[in-house]
Amino acid sequence: MAGVPFDQMTGKIWFNGEFVDWADAKVHVLTHGLHYGSSVFEGERAYGGVIFKSREHTERLHESARVLDFKLPYSVDEIEEAKRQVLQINGFTDAYLRPVAWRGSEMMGVSAQKNKINVAVAAWQWPSYFDPEERLKGIRLDIAAYRRPDPATAPVKSKAAGLYMICTISKHAAEAKGYADAMMLDWQGRVAECTGANIFFVKDGVIHTPIADCFLDGITRRTAIELARARGWEVVERRIMPDELEGFSECFITGTAAEVTPVSEIGPYRFTPGEICETMLKDYLVAVMPASEVPEKLVAAG
Ligand code: PMP
Repeated sequence: MAGVPFDQMTGKIWFNGEFVDWADAKVHVLTHGLHYGSSVFEGERAYGGVIFKSREHTERLHESARVLDFKLPYSVDEIEEAKRQVLQINGFTDAYLRPVAWRGSEMMGVSAQKNKINVAVAAWQWPSYFDPEERLKGIRLDIAAYRRPDPATAPVKSKAAGLYMICTISKHAAEAKGYADAMMLDWQGRVAECTGANIFFVKDGVIHTPIADCFLDGITRRTAIELARARGWEVVERRIMPDELEGFSECFITGTAAEVTPVSEIGPYRFTPGEICETMLKDYLVAVMPASEVPEKLVAAG
């Protein structure tokens, strides 16, 4: 899928408080964020012009920076306003938003106290292609060789660029074998999440998901838990070992990009997307979309 490279699209990017032309939103090669991974980001989606759980994402961006020992020079309200303007100025209603914050070039070494903190917000069009039948076929996952690190080893609660090194390597390995993505275990060998999404399983009508103690507690994950409980379904957050996968009937992943995506296969284990997958993916779409945008078939699904 080689489209227009991301640095060659057109539009405006919010860059340190100002709008710049897409082509001019550049950083220098001697940027701390590039050399030492001092960068945090968000991934958000707007549906019908409304960013889903926008403030939670901005608060998480602030918290991600705090964990990496830097402070954003823009308040939550200011970044909220920047995101709103980015959508407006580019004329987007259904879009993906990418706020990012990184340490600049004033110091070039491990220490970084004097580096300027830069913040940018880019967005690009990304409609949600909703085809329940296609999605219910489920995607195939490999099991990653890398594991999510111990919280004593890495700042696991930050959505920090550096934590994605092992995700890219794992996703490449999975894709080379024909899988869509990889499920990662944690440092203790328990099921953790995927390379950019959280994971859920179903057994006897009960939903099980790993405790988010060493990986991102996704905003979509929390939404899915609320939606399932609102249906009266039991959701258990617990430690899940990989050999338990044998006993689960359904599996789905959650994330801003993935939304709710059913899974049919993880390594040697098989799942059949069923009632819970179907209901969760529809309930999620209804939750994220402004009421006026909800497709007829979802309203009918109730
Ligand atoms: N885990 C990882 C590693 C991710 O990159 C993402 C996507 N941000 C998620 C989980 C899901 O998070 P959210 O639901 O907040 O998008």
